[in-house]
Amino acid sequence: MRFVEKVVIVTGGASGIGRSTALAFADEGASVVIADLNQRASEDVVRLIRDRGRAATAVPTDVSQPHDWTRLVGETVRLYGRIDVLFNNAGIEGATAATADYPEEAFDRVLAINLKGVWLGMRAVIPRMLAQGKGAIVNMSSILGLVGFASAAAYTASKHGVLGLTKVAALEYAAHGIRINAVCPGFIRTPMVMERGLAHLPNAREVLAQVSQLHPVGRFGEPDEVARAVLFLASDEASFLTGAAVPIDGGYTIR
Ligand code: NAP
Repeated sequence: MRFVEKVVIVTGGASGIGRSTALAFADEGASVVIADLNQRASEDVVRLIRDRGRAATAVPTDVSQPHDWTRLVGETVRLYGRIDVLFNNAGIEGATAATADYPEEAFDRVLAINLKGVWLGMRAVIPRMLAQGKGAIVNMSSILGLVGFASAAAYTASKHGVLGLTKVAALEYAAHGIRINAVCPGFIRTPMVMERGLAHLPNAREVLAQVSQLHPVGRFGEPDEVARAVLFLASDEASFLTGAAVPIDGGYTIR
């Protein structure tokens, strides 16, 4: 129960890693605000959390839109009075194409959501956390924030960028009680990967087996395995941890 009386915003909280993490925060006592594009799925998560006896609200949000962040922070503070944790998780996979063929529109969109969206989120909540004298932010990067992956130029650039933003902001606010870390998951069994990504390829079974073997543990990760690390980073247990990029990748990046 590390998050009793804490207020947590989870972007992209309607699906996959965000959904699992939102439920895990609620299970440890937090009031949770789901900030996602997908309103129906957000309301489902809110219902699940309320069924468990915790407070939750969905605030429809496009993380690439500054006005949405203003509304999200305003609504969160109006309803719950404070913001203790931001999990800056929402992201998209983008196109699959070699660098010289990558569609410009897709490139801009990936950067707008995965990278600028993370900065907009920090910009929106940090003043509130400064006023409180405390806060924790966990930014979503990826193993592709640490290493390259062919055919994923925009995604890989965005996730490397998230680590840069994380380090700079961590430096700037460390002395003000705000810790800012990033997580770098390997391939995780979520709709992004299993429904829209690898699983729709004609040779999906073969590709999934190959990708599993890129992780020394020999399998994909589960959303809950990322959630547990996010909760640790957001909790007081991680009080001396800031500016870190934490791989949760079954060993993918140690080779
Ligand atoms: P997911 O299942 O697709 O969930 C992402 C959620 O974010 C969806 O509900 C999506 O809504 C929402 N979303 C998309 N664009 C948004 C926007 N502009 N504003 C607000 N919400 C938005 O994906 P996931 O696999 O859980 O991924 C979550 C994060 O983890 C992403 O940043 C991803 O890059 C990162 N990550 C994933 C993996 C993996 O293997 N799954 C590995 C490393 C890092 P819609 O469904 O309506 O688009």
